[in-house]
Amino acid sequence: MPRNTEVIALPTMTPGTGRNLTVHRFGRQGARPKVYIHAALHADELPATMVVHHLMPMLETAEAEGRIKGEIIVVPVANPIGLNQNLGSYFSGRFDLSTRENYNRNFPADWNVVADAVRDRLTHDAEANVSLIRDAAYAYVAEQKPASELDALRWKLLELSVDADYVLDLHCAATALVYLMIYKDCLDIGGCELSADIGSRASFLIDWYPDKRTFMTTTASLWSRVREAVPELPVPQGLMSCVVEYRGRLDVSDALGRPDAENLLRFLMRRGVVEGRFDPPPQALCAPVPVSHMVLVTAPAGGVVVYNKMLGEPIKAGDVVCEIINPLDPDTARARTPVHAPVDGIVFDTRNDHLARPGSVVYRMCSDQPQDRRVDQAPQDD
Ligand SMILES: [Zn+2]
Repeated sequence: MPRNTEVIALPTMTPGTGRNLTVHRFGRQGARPKVYIHAALHADELPATMVVHHLMPMLETAEAEGRIKGEIIVVPVANPIGLNQNLGSYFSGRFDLSTRENYNRNFPADWNVVADAVRDRLTHDAEANVSLIRDAAYAYVAEQKPASELDALRWKLLELSVDADYVLDLHCAATALVYLMIYKDCLDIGGCELSADIGSRASFLIDWYPDKRTFMTTTASLWSRVREAVPELPVPQGLMSCVVEYRGRLDVSDALGRPDAENLLRFLMRRGVVEGRFDPPPQALCAPVPVSHMVLVTAPAGGVVVYNKMLGEPIKAGDVVCEIINPLDPDTARARTPVHAPVDGIVFDTRNDHLARPGSVVYRMCSDQPQDRRVDQAPQDD
C-alpha cells in the first residue's frame, strides 16, 4: 500500500492567510500496534525533523516490502504556526507570539469526560476496556470544534494520537545529550527498550502535571484518569507516551539524523510494528529513574556563562560546573562566580546562549540519588 499523505488546513486567523498540517500514514489504518510520531512541536527544535527525514524513506521501503504490520502516523512538522514565526532574523518557535503560550502546554482535553462516558460500560476484561477507552477518547477529541488556529492544532494532534499504542514526541534541548522523558506508567510497555534503543544518556519517569498539560502527559494521562475514576476494574496503561530530546538545537545533521532514525526503526521492529530482523537491545547507557533525580541548577548572578565540565562527564558534588562572568568587572578573579554541582551525577543539558540572568537555569543534572525537593515539580521551568 503506498504512503498516504493528508494535508489538513488549520483555521485561518486572518483573511488571505493560512497554514496546513501535513500527515503521512504508513501501514493499514486501524492496524495494531499504532504508532504516532511527530517532530518540532517546539518549532525551533529542528534536530528531530532530521530524524523523521531519515525515518520516512525507511518506512516507505518497509511498506513497499509489506513489512509494516501496524499503523504509523508521522507528522514531520507538528507546529506550522511556530515554524512561521520570524522576528527580524530571529526564529521564535517555543512560544506562540499571539497568546504567549508555550506550544507544549495547555493541551485542552478533559479526560474526566471520557471516564464518565465509559464508566458504566467497563468490565473485568482489560483488553476490551482498552478498546472501549480508545474509541471513547477518539470520539470525544474528534467532535471538538475549536475556533482558533492554535486550539485546532492542539486538538488535531490529540485526534491523531489519542488512540495510539505508542506516542513519540520528538524535541531537543539547548545544548544536550540525547535524553528521554517517559510517562511514569510506561516503563514496562516499551519505555525501557526505547531508552536503550535510542542511546538515551538520562531517562526520567514523568508524572502528570495538571498545571502544565504537555502533549506527552496529556496523551498518557487519559489512562490514569480513567483508572482513578473506576478503580475496581482493570484499566491498563494503553499507551506508551514519551518525549525524546535529540541533543541540542544546533545538532542538526545527516550524521546524527540517520543513525537516530535507524535506532527508532529498530524500536518499531522490536515492538512488532515493522517486521524485520533486528539486533538484541543495545547495552543501555543509563537506567530510567524518577524525575526526582533531575536537578535544575540556577544562576546566582547574571552574566556570561562558561562551562568547565563536559556533558555526560561524571561530576561530584562541589565540582565547579560553570562560572558566570561579569563582563564589566576588570578584576578577572572577582568577575567570576563559580556554580558548584549540588549533587553527584552528570550534566545532561546546558544553556546555548551563554547568558545567565539571576535565577535562570544554567544547567540540568541527572543525580545519582533522588532529590526530595523535586518531587511533584515539572521537569522544566517554562
Ligand atoms: Zn521542546
